[in-house]
Amino acid sequence: MSLTPLPLTPPQPAHEANTNLAHLNPLPKSVFTLPQTAQLEALYTIIRDKDTSRGDFLFYSDRIIRLLVEEGLNHLPVVKRTVETPTGATYDGVGFKGKICGVSILRAGEAMEAGLREVCRSVRIGKILIQRDEDTALPKLFYSKFPQDIASRYVLLLDPMLATGGSAMKAVEVLIEHGVPEERIIFINLIASPEGLTTFCAKYPQLKVITGWIDQGLNEKAYIIPGLGDFGERRYCT
Ligand code: URA
Repeated sequence: MSLTPLPLTPPQPAHEANTNLAHLNPLPKSVFTLPQTAQLEALYTIIRDKDTSRGDFLFYSDRIIRLLVEEGLNHLPVVKRTVETPTGATYDGVGFKGKICGVSILRAGEAMEAGLREVCRSVRIGKILIQRDEDTALPKLFYSKFPQDIASRYVLLLDPMLATGGSAMKAVEVLIEHGVPEERIIFINLIASPEGLTTFCAKYPQLKVITGWIDQGLNEKAYIIPGLGDFGERRYCT
């Protein structure tokens, strides 16, 4: 049997490649998606598939996380830096300005820590646990632990799914209370809902959001559709 290859499409701007973005056109200025290539869509197709094994889910979601972290680092400021190469010549390049740290929103965000460590050796990572308050139904802070100098760092905030945006907005509120300026936070997620993005970006317009894919919307249980189900369950099999 001969396989007919799909026509190769060159990388396209997000709005042209992902028709799901049409309803969010234009995207809030602070939102950046990964290049919506066929390769990326293939990775997402694997992790969205309910029949994908846990091993494959781990492997392919880690690949996407790595791409997202690299994209997040593209948004950090740099300063001029000149080095001498082994040939004796000088090279006028750049170096990162300032220190960074990660903050994962527990529990699913922990899955993104390894991806950050792979590219930023010995990076400091804080954690924050936010859950729904049973009395008020609002997101409530249950636990946080940050590097003590977090106020002077750029923060990569990690949570794989931006659904309603409630936990992420609470996490940003807590970071700001700890002295981190909004514009020094970069929120990284694998899949975002248009509703969550709209609410989040309206509240924190200075904060950059890096997302891999923007889906259609939320269902009545606040799951992202088509989504991939419960990220924590898929990853940890609980
Ligand atoms: N969290 C998940 O894990 N999945 C969703 O669809 C929404 C929130």
